[in-house]
Amino acid sequence: MISLPRGITAIHLQPVGDGVALEMLDRISAALARVFEVSCHVRRERLDAGLALDPVRRQYFSTAVLQQLVPLAAGDEEIRLFGITEYDLFVPVLTFVFGEAQLDGRCGLISLHRLREEFYGLPARGELLEERAVKEVIHELGHTFGLRHCPDWSCAMASTHAVERLDLKGARLCADCTRRIGAWS
Ligand SMILES: [Zn+2]
Ligand SMILES: [Zn+2]
Repeated sequence: MISLPRGITAIHLQPVGDGVALEMLDRISAALARVFEVSCHVRRERLDAGLALDPVRRQYFSTAVLQQLVPLAAGDEEIRLFGITEYDLFVPVLTFVFGEAQLDGRCGLISLHRLREEFYGLPARGELLEERAVKEVIHELGHTFGLRHCPDWSCAMASTHAVERLDLKGARLCADCTRRIGAWS
């Protein structure tokens, strides 16, 4: 179990856009509560991220979605707020992103779209999807605590641009990253 910096009391998961199953968020939340010594809470009210849609790319601009999440965490310094969406996310310089977070901020976001085996033409695997989502949230959460990418390929903070690499990582932080989180507050 990783203890979060002093003063952080909860991780909130926020459904973003259409099609996100709350049961999925509940399962991710339970998995996170096993990794971090913190309470996890699933917000039930969906955030409509329609404004972030790029009609030409037919993807959602992740930085714009993140900006919509920020006010939802306003005034609550003790939480981290994570958006979970089924929408495919992008930033202008990349064809897609699995997620994005504010470095040293309160908010992050991940997409389940490319974490699904179905995206690659393979049969659905619920447990694998959940495992990948948890790793992604840990990664983006690390960024909100000021962590940058880690050279250890088995650490959740390793940078990943393909699910194959994501599957090699652990749902954990390496000793270095864990130490840095502890020293963060
Ligand atoms: Zn990253
Ligand atoms: Zn690391």
